[in-house]
Amino acid sequence: MNTYEYINERDILYNLFDCIRIVDPIRKVVIHQIKNEVDIEKLPCYEFWNRNQVCENCISIRAYNEEKSFSKIEFNKEKVYFVIATLIKINCTKYIVEALKDVTEDNILEKISKKSISDITKEVNRLNEIVVKDELTGCFNIRYVNEMLPFNILDSINENKTLSVCMLDLDYFKQINDTYGHLCGDFVLKEVGKILKDNIRKDIDWVARYGGEEFIIVFNNMSLKNVTKRVQAIKDKIEKHEFKWKDKVIKITSSFGISTLDEDTKTVESILESADKMLYLSKQKGRNNISHK
Ligand code: GH3
Ligand code: MG
Ligand code: MG
Repeated sequence: MNTYEYINERDILYNLFDCIRIVDPIRKVVIHQIKNEVDIEKLPCYEFWNRNQVCENCISIRAYNEEKSFSKIEFNKEKVYFVIATLIKINCTKYIVEALKDVTEDNILEKISKKSISDITKEVNRLNEIVVKDELTGCFNIRYVNEMLPFNILDSINENKTLSVCMLDLDYFKQINDTYGHLCGDFVLKEVGKILKDNIRKDIDWVARYGGEEFIIVFNNMSLKNVTKRVQAIKDKIEKHEFKWKDKVIKITSSFGISTLDEDTKTVESILESADKMLYLSKQKGRNNISHK
């Protein structure tokens, strides 16, 4: 008998990993945990990490969207895990298999970096963060929009919660670049990013840089009345802010388009398109305006 015939692929997998599970990366639930035979249908997948929150750097939704395998390192309290996510198709339905390996005892990170565990935790968190963050403003990036918004929408529909997407675009921003230079434009974008981050609810709402001078804010479970109030406050903050560049004080305004989840806007594409239409309307109204559907 050929040596290879003795090899049981299942045993190899089971020995290699501490946890193997099938997840639905859009609903963020474990469908089945293969290793340990625990049948935990619908357990939130992020509970494994002792968090009440969805992972910012979710490699499973990335594997699902991009149809490739991804890996990362994560911390679970004092433990370090190597995680791989890969796509499988069962009867034309896409699922993700996550394989998790506890590598704490291997001390690989300490050996490579010669840093303490707390420094390594910070470094791993930073590495997981930069994948989904915009380098200039520190807001989330487009990848995050594509990965988080489908979950937020589905969760809002299932839980009967409201969700609003607000798109904002700086007015006559090109003039700032043309008058004061591109570096000054970058400085303004950075400051606007900070204003936006400082004026949304932490860990509930989020802001992403969607394009050059365009941002998206997602408000989870907030009434349209309150969303409008908050957006009005953000608009005022930007308008009143003095952007101090060298010896100059620069002022800018911004235009907003809000779309709230309903029958016609319950997909990522339709809600973004609708918010974009509203933003266009605000520009047409003369800019420095808010429009909502
Ligand atoms: P409107 O009120 O119609 O939005 O006018 P606008 O000038 O803001 O819009 P337009 O689309 O004509 O110009 C956007 C400018 O944003 C052009 C582009 O050079 C600039 N831009 C895009 N990304 C960046 C960036 O990362 N840094 C800087 N400094 N400028 C950027
Ligand atoms: Mg603009
Ligand atoms: Mg623009």
